[in-house]
Amino acid sequence: MENTKELRTWLDDMSLPHPLVIAGPCSAETEEQVMRIAHDLKDTDVNFYRAGIWKPRTRPGNFEGVGAIGLNWLKRVKEETGLKTATEVANKAHVDLALEADIDMLWIGARSTVSPFIVQEIADALEGTDKVVLIKNPVNPDLALWLGAVERFYQAGIKKLGVIHRGFSTYEKTKYRNIPEWQMAIELQTRFPDLPLINDPSHITGKRDMVFDVAQTALDLNFDGLMVETHWDPDNAWSDAAQQVTPERLVQMMEDWKIRKVTD
Ligand code: PEP
Ligand code: MN
Repeated sequence: MENTKELRTWLDDMSLPHPLVIAGPCSAETEEQVMRIAHDLKDTDVNFYRAGIWKPRTRPGNFEGVGAIGLNWLKRVKEETGLKTATEVANKAHVDLALEADIDMLWIGARSTVSPFIVQEIADALEGTDKVVLIKNPVNPDLALWLGAVERFYQAGIKKLGVIHRGFSTYEKTKYRNIPEWQMAIELQTRFPDLPLINDPSHITGKRDMVFDVAQTALDLNFDGLMVETHWDPDNAWSDAAQQVTPERLVQMMEDWKIRKVTD
């Protein structure tokens, strides 16, 4: 990959490259798993290490995340690899713990963005923070909910704000796990041109073989970055096994993606 796009506000302030790459497992599972993947991603073009520690599972009884202990593992990731860290927060208690643990980037999951009450609670808890905050689109294709969440976070004075396009659920039988509805992301970008737009090809596709092409489409559309679920042993991952790629595959993809020139 090469750096070809004019950088935007906080991406620029943080000297982050284009495209921004956020990678790491869907879920933190064990300290060993977290550290192993982080070391595999060290010294690559990955900028932020993601790992979900509180997992919003559709039905009870499945693995629901390791919880707050995972924050210690992410701290270790930062110390040992220099990677910045990222995790999902879904309520005020999560935010307080994540800020205390000095997590660099917090994202709001698709199941939270649908709820104005929870969005407001998280925005209030984050008021004035200088951490990076990314808002995933809501599960359903409702642009107003996504815009409303952005407005709530702006109103809370969050400066390093961005959005993640992770696709939308549908009853239609399609090849995607969540249909991209690219025009929704483009519409959001048109309304908020200064907001970095990140694509999440993992949750859009649900299948690792499709991740490269969806990410390339996003890059062709001038997205600012990618969030790619990455696991050293994807088939045995505790969540989202079918869509995760190995660190080796991610490195190969980062070499092969074509980055659009600013002047194109
Ligand atoms: C995730 O990033 O692992 C996740 C749960 O994503 P989403 O909120 O997009 O479903
Ligand atoms: Mn996931």
